[in-house]
Amino acid sequence: MHKLTLKELSAQLQARKISATELATLFLDRIDASDLNAFLHVDRELTLAQAKVADSRLSANDAGQLIGVPIAHKDIFVTRGWRTTAGSRMLDNYVSPFDATVVEQFNAAGMVTLGKLNCDEFAMGSGNENSYFGPTLNPWDKRAVPGGSSGGSAAAVAARLAPAATATDTGGSIRQPASLCGVTGIKPTYGSVSRYGMIAFASSLDQGGPIAKTAEDCGLLLNAMTGFDERDSTSLQRPKEDFTRSLNDSLQGLRIGVPKEFFGAGLAADVEAAVRAALSEFEKLGAQLVEISLPKTELSIPVYYVIAPAEASSNLSRFDGVRYGHRAADYGNLDDMYRKSRAEGFGEEVKRRILVGSYVLSHGYYDAYYLQAQKIRRLIAQDFQNALAGANRQCDVIMGPVSPTVAWDLGDKTNDPVANYLADIFTLSTSLAGLPGMSIPCGFGQGEKNGKRPVGLQIIGNYFDEARLLNVAHQFQQATDWHLREPA
Ligand code: GLN
Repeated sequence: MHKLTLKELSAQLQARKISATELATLFLDRIDASDLNAFLHVDRELTLAQAKVADSRLSANDAGQLIGVPIAHKDIFVTRGWRTTAGSRMLDNYVSPFDATVVEQFNAAGMVTLGKLNCDEFAMGSGNENSYFGPTLNPWDKRAVPGGSSGGSAAAVAARLAPAATATDTGGSIRQPASLCGVTGIKPTYGSVSRYGMIAFASSLDQGGPIAKTAEDCGLLLNAMTGFDERDSTSLQRPKEDFTRSLNDSLQGLRIGVPKEFFGAGLAADVEAAVRAALSEFEKLGAQLVEISLPKTELSIPVYYVIAPAEASSNLSRFDGVRYGHRAADYGNLDDMYRKSRAEGFGEEVKRRILVGSYVLSHGYYDAYYLQAQKIRRLIAQDFQNALAGANRQCDVIMGPVSPTVAWDLGDKTNDPVANYLADIFTLSTSLAGLPGMSIPCGFGQGEKNGKRPVGLQIIGNYFDEARLLNVAHQFQQATDWHLREPA
């Protein structure tokens, strides 16, 4: 049962072959038996209470497709009743008085919460090793990182501890862990999913999205989690759409842009081979490959690592020992209390970003760094528009690798923040442009040392082209079985 997709589980529930309570119990038992550190908080009673409500809705013949299907939430979405820590000591004992909009939407749809998922502290990281609660392990190889920051979400779905999970992507945190754990994830267009109750990292980039086994499941989840929210000032007002509407469209004539900057030095041979094989598969499905150029790709790293820390330094000022979270036990005056509470509550990477962010926003450096970065951000977005839009558009979607390598070993990059930043090269530009992007499993790395570690294919589209991305991914998943492979 745990192997089934969300869509299949839904059919089982609707046909009364299994109850929501039985299903939740089955996954809770799997979570209990797992040693991946994917879950930070589990509360059987709360879960089973939700399952009971779902069962009564099912007996009343409520046909909502998500009713009774279990889901787990990245611990960056606040949840009433469950602790929400954002992977930080700062919020170690924090329980929110309200649910994030995304959580509210899934609750209303009848989904059953299995618990809260590990992540890098305040979503800052690429390996889940910045969590105060210890790293999540990659289910394919426990010596490896699961990716980050949504490492718990990707590992939980890959290990079949949950059929679906929420995640957030600021610079790659849905796509990269999905890639490193061999599952499917989509970051929709910026503004599609409400940020209300999603603990802020970099507000002009943060975007929620789903991780699941298949593109079809991701579409069903997006249907529930998108929509205008007046409590989020950058929420988009758009007509409701069905993201699964074009899953079965043919790919005949689809033009796939292959950016040459995504295949340069630094891309591991095993990742390149898997991605190129996937591109050939798309040709068999009737698509056509077009070489394109996204010349500003390289600049996305310095630009992102100025803008994201700048916004983070501002967002994280609210954690002062007064309003939320950790307060130092011993302190002198008020300033001392702020200083000690923040020094104790935040981890090293978070402090590094606050320092960088405060620096680039400070008088005398703002123009040289922050403003400059904002200007290049616009040029990065323009690169994508040149390829995807206008009279001279070259392609319908863009494809390439998600991560330059397969999952690396735990500890390999912990003392080298820049090595972590460089691994974000293929995901940052999409985030800076606010475009939708996804990752689907497309093979495994071949390296001897790296054993069997998954490779993800990235699919990027123009604004609001999620239905097309899902269509493209679904067609690939009809023709291949990478998404059904499971860790031992
Ligand atoms: N790895 C990137 C960072 O550390 C992206 C993280 C994210 O998308 N939340 O900031």
